[in-house]
Amino acid sequence: MSAPAGRREELEAGLAGVRARIAAACAEAGRDPDEVRLVVVTKFFPASDVRLLADLGVTDVGENRHQEAEAKAAECADLGLTWHFIGGLQSNKAAAVAAYADVVESVDRAKLVRGLDRGAGERQAVVDVLLQVSLDPPGRPGRAGAEPDQLAALAAAVGDAEHLRLRGLMAVAPLGEDPATAFARLAGIRQEFLVDHPDAGLLSAGMSGDLEHAVKIGATHVRVGSAVLGSRPQVQ
Ligand SMILES: *Cc1c(COP(=O)(O)O)cnc(C)c1O
Repeated sequence: MSAPAGRREELEAGLAGVRARIAAACAEAGRDPDEVRLVVVTKFFPASDVRLLADLGVTDVGENRHQEAEAKAAECADLGLTWHFIGGLQSNKAAAVAAYADVVESVDRAKLVRGLDRGAGERQAVVDVLLQVSLDPPGRPGRAGAEPDQLAALAAAVGDAEHLRLRGLMAVAPLGEDPATAFARLAGIRQEFLVDHPDAGLLSAGMSGDLEHAVKIGATHVRVGSAVLGSRPQVQ
């Protein structure tokens, strides 16, 4: 299925805007824009958009729902993209996710490790793992991510897995909190994490609404959906 007329131009404009925002945030923070990778979050949008994005120079895409991600990754297998899984994971789906994802950013409990390792091993790949850390106050319903004090044990579990490679941390700024204060907290958590895991220096943080704050505190990956693709067809 090809994209509707004009879609390429829309995506091109969206991308240009986001790349300019990243460049400006890097300039402000005294960082090299090459240190910040743009992961375009294509959830709810069709594979035809992924194809256009690849043609426009996008190298990394993010998805948060397993079935949709699996189908899109298969449909776009010829594009050589790096697929990031950024959504909530069920342990009985972990192996299936590791069968197509190159980076799993949402690892928040040790229970997921065995399945991810098996799925990666079956395709004879090494899958990169980011540990998702929660910035929410404890007890908030629907929160995702490990508590900061659980990261050491989780990192050890990932480190023991043959086909997984611990690369860093991922976080989402809580709804209703100033992202500047949430990401300041994240920077502290990361600093502490790096003491024991100096090779796990990736940090995925920042979305359409707050990527500047994330770049400022050292994000190496920003996950941007609507600012590139437009508003999603439905609320997730
Ligand atoms: C959807 C999603 C994004 C992108 O959100 P936008 O506000 O559309 O940029 C980033 N991270 C995660 C975990 C998401 O689920």
